[in-house]
Amino acid sequence: MLAKQGWRLLQYPDSLTSKILKAKYFPNYSFLDAPVKAIGSYVWKSICTARSILLQGSRWQVGSSEGIDVWKDPWVPRATTFRVTTSKPTECTLSEVQELIREDTRTWDLLLLATVFLPPDMEVICSIPLSIRRTADTLIWHFDKKWSFSVRSAYKLAFAEHGVRTATSTSSGNGFRAGWNTLWKARVQGKIKLLWWKICRGILPTKAALSKRKVPLETSCVFCGAKLETTIHILRDCSFAGGVWINSSLGRTNVQPQTRDLHDWFLYCAEHLPVADFDLFLYTGWAIWNAMKENVWNSRKLSSAIVSFGAVARLSAFSSVHV
Ligand SMILES: [Zn+2]
Repeated sequence: MLAKQGWRLLQYPDSLTSKILKAKYFPNYSFLDAPVKAIGSYVWKSICTARSILLQGSRWQVGSSEGIDVWKDPWVPRATTFRVTTSKPTECTLSEVQELIREDTRTWDLLLLATVFLPPDMEVICSIPLSIRRTADTLIWHFDKKWSFSVRSAYKLAFAEHGVRTATSTSSGNGFRAGWNTLWKARVQGKIKLLWWKICRGILPTKAALSKRKVPLETSCVFCGAKLETTIHILRDCSFAGGVWINSSLGRTNVQPQTRDLHDWFLYCAEHLPVADFDLFLYTGWAIWNAMKENVWNSRKLSSAIVSFGAVARLSAFSSVHV
């Protein structure tokens, strides 16, 4: 997934891909701060849209702590912001985390911590182990035991965040929550669930979405030339997608009722399709999305029959191992 590619940019800055992208798009920034240029490749713009996920789960693991900003950087091992909650006292000149560490003993300067921070911050900061060796600061993924980014944990984070919003939102009905539950329970790979979560949140980097964010690009559908490439067009309304659904055992009519928008479509299918059919529905949507990417990124044109078959094959392979 794209967030994984973004994570590789952070972890392997010396790789050939990272160097090329950095030289071209963000020579004077880190990947997380790099602006999305008006002129840039579709791939780069798409990777940038995945940054929000990385920003939600990444924090600095304190090493030498040079350059980590006490007040602005995410370095406190406490979700969800990973930042101190204490406001910077007036006339406080403290700026880098290394100033909070006694260099002679490599321990936290407790007196300074107690002077500057509120007790909850102090408690968490004191729990951060300090190495005697001055290791480099590392950007880690907070939601994994080995601190390594994984699609699975990103999905969990994204889903949990949505759950909180759904529970506190007055506009979300029971039907929508039921739809999420069905997706959550579906017997499909985590990456498929993550893709559908993004689809329903409207955060897939379609041309229509990028264009809305003032990224100037040609917005027509790569398959049929329709004026605006929206998510529901690619997945359901495009003639290519129609061919894929017809070729699948679901048939077009089962998944293309006259629902108004993408949410309604997803909820209808989550509610009405038998469990096994809903699993195939999820895989087929994923396969259509990938076929679009293959076409755009690699100029590889797959037939609707191949795409439909690919979804069945992936689902069968997963089911044979996990059911
Ligand atoms: Zn189309």
